[in-house]
Amino acid sequence: MIYLDNIHKSYVMGTNALHVLKGINLEVAEGELVAIMGSSGSGKSTLLNIIGMLDTYDEGTYRLDGRLIRNMSEKKVARFRNSHIGFVFQSFNLISFKNAMENVALPLYYRNISRKKRNHVAMELLEKMGLEEWAEHMPNELSGGQQQRIAIARALVSKPRVILADEPTGALDSQTSYEVMDLFKEINQSGITVLIVTHENDIAHMTDRIIRLHDGNIVADEMNSVRKHEPVLQPSIP
Ligand code: ADP
Ligand code: MG
Repeated sequence: MIYLDNIHKSYVMGTNALHVLKGINLEVAEGELVAIMGSSGSGKSTLLNIIGMLDTYDEGTYRLDGRLIRNMSEKKVARFRNSHIGFVFQSFNLISFKNAMENVALPLYYRNISRKKRNHVAMELLEKMGLEEWAEHMPNELSGGQQQRIAIARALVSKPRVILADEPTGALDSQTSYEVMDLFKEINQSGITVLIVTHENDIAHMTDRIIRLHDGNIVADEMNSVRKHEPVLQPSIP
């Protein structure tokens, strides 16, 4: 699904260039659940943004679903991204003046789907995820965990093949983090490839494969044989 060969990326600032990715080789098959770990500044977000076509690379080859991602027009990039990738961020990035359902429906707006149909599809998804009672709530009326689950619903609404999550549990307490990870596992079990950036060991150990970045290089890439025992969950909503 994801194929990266010798990917390099530098950020140029004035006369200085910061070499952030130094020859990344990585293959992720369809249906994998992968964690990307590494200390702050090691290049995790840069790598995820390249995979998600939010950023370009300088050197190497990147194929997503067999398609070479290089020199595509903005329009083509946007269309390919919308059909293949769902993003989840640490800070949820919900639109504050739209309710939960409207936030979930938003990606469909860019596909010229009518408001009625958008809201219907969003509502169906919220129901499937047990979030329907929050549909009319504004983001500031929701807990962090609820906001993140709404953000995950938004990432799923256009039926992507890949979910990319950049420290999705970084702003959540550990109980809520485990609930969000359970959701990612369910999503993965439905066949969607999931990549999760984290610097928390317990979160990484809830995935099947752990990739470690250090200073722009992959220094370890291992199947997670000691997958952590699933925590017993308390109901998140009283
Ligand atoms: P991580 O997510 O692992 O913390 P990042 O990929 O965000 O690391 O950043 C890697 C390095 O690249 C850092 O030194 C960061 O300051 C730098 N960097 C990231 N994005 C930009 C940018 N848009 N312009 C300049 N430097 C950047
Ligand atoms: Mg980062």
